[in-house]
Amino acid sequence: MHREQAPSRGRRETAINSSNATHYGSCFCGAVRIAVRGEPLGMGYCHCQSCRSWSASPVNAFTLWKSADVALESGAELVETYHQTPRSFRKWCRKCGGHVMTDHPLWGLIDVFAAVLPTLAFQPAVHVNYAESVLPNRDGLPKLHDFPKDLGGSGISVPE
Ligand SMILES: [Zn+2]
Ligand SMILES: [Zn+2]
Repeated sequence: MHREQAPSRGRRETAINSSNATHYGSCFCGAVRIAVRGEPLGMGYCHCQSCRSWSASPVNAFTLWKSADVALESGAELVETYHQTPRSFRKWCRKCGGHVMTDHPLWGLIDVFAAVLPTLAFQPAVHVNYAESVLPNRDGLPKLHDFPKDLGGSGISVPE
């Protein structure tokens, strides 16, 4: 379903990414509500097989936050977690199945899926795990074979 970006409504929503803004998001049914504070540390697309398989989509649009800047506002008792590796704890709502976030405890970061945060201006800067891509994207952004060096990856760039 295509939806126009919602216009700003009141002081709890803003389309501008500023350091003290708070953005709110929810699962598909709305029972799980989250809030993120400040600015994401990174935004982009992950093409890895795990993200694709779990999200049932060809790519995952991520926004990375410090764990301390992400809060569950409601529905915490409905949040289920599954992890295949100690790097990624994937979280969703038990009531509707809607995906909300992936906790990366070894990095101290949480990926709140860009689609979950309607008021955050999504400004992707990088494609990661592009070697596994099934959806080539010639947008001119850097394409990394796996992860950046500062997240333990090779940092190697690959062609679009
Ligand atoms: Zn839900
Ligand atoms: Zn991934």
